[in-house]
Amino acid sequence: MTDARTDRLGFVHCPLVRHSAEREQNLPERQACDPQARTILIVGETVILRVARDSATSLLPLADLERAPGRREQVFLGTLEGRPVLATLAGPDAAHAFNDEAIYKVLDLRAIAIQGIVSAEELGILATAKALLHWHAYHRFCSQCGTPTSLSCAGFRRDCGACGAQHFPRTDPVAIMLVARGDRCLLGRQSRFPPGMYSCLAGFIEPGETIEDAVRRETYEEAGVRVGAVRYLASQPWPFPSSIMIGCIAEALDDGLTLDRTELEDGRWFSRDEARLMLEHRHPDGLFTPLPFAIANGLIRSFVDG
Ligand SMILES: [Zn+2]
Repeated sequence: MTDARTDRLGFVHCPLVRHSAEREQNLPERQACDPQARTILIVGETVILRVARDSATSLLPLADLERAPGRREQVFLGTLEGRPVLATLAGPDAAHAFNDEAIYKVLDLRAIAIQGIVSAEELGILATAKALLHWHAYHRFCSQCGTPTSLSCAGFRRDCGACGAQHFPRTDPVAIMLVARGDRCLLGRQSRFPPGMYSCLAGFIEPGETIEDAVRRETYEEAGVRVGAVRYLASQPWPFPSSIMIGCIAEALDDGLTLDRTELEDGRWFSRDEARLMLEHRHPDGLFTPLPFAIANGLIRSFVDG
């Protein structure tokens, strides 16, 4: 992605060569024999980082895994500059083995993204690892017959030995939209947001629905505003746990608001100047937008820049 409005987004730069056509041969255990191999280690919901004075990385030498008790699934994500990159999932208890060592840091992925402590490229690899391992952690049984399934295809499939079903990792599409009418845009806040933060409306795309219709439905349901034209801007992997955010600019057909208070604590129209002040954290009432790593920021920035 080279668009100046969106190239600061988190999780969008992933330099892995995925070798997706060769996954039957690229078994994680075979890749792990390569002395150049590295692994991401996710314990529960957190990532293990190796820290030095001026840098940090989640790409660990495989010997570090010996510290983690109760190791479970391992997947092969691809290669990075020719070196195999694996991802390993361990139970949350394994974090204790790293907590007391100065060379390690245990952080959740959101904090890693906000703090910017690994490179943008490594953040993209982490998003892949987090979403894929979460799927393994929560999809251990066949949805057709209930039998425990086993990892296959380098970790990009699970197979059922009883009924033969093959199960693939899921990605859940979310439409996120900057709804604009002339010189104003519609932003809302959920009660879980930090005080003062307003963001774009968003919602899961349902089966049988186009992206455009999901934008129209969610905007009408949450704010009572009818939407006409919808334009795609950019997308962002969002591994919490396994979504892809599909960012759109939507044109409102009216500006009367009827908020769904179960979804939104507040929502209102903001002028372009006001939205700019919110992006720059200079709004007189202390209102602000999500940080630049989130696609909502890129959508609002796109509106502000016209
Ligand atoms: Zn089955």
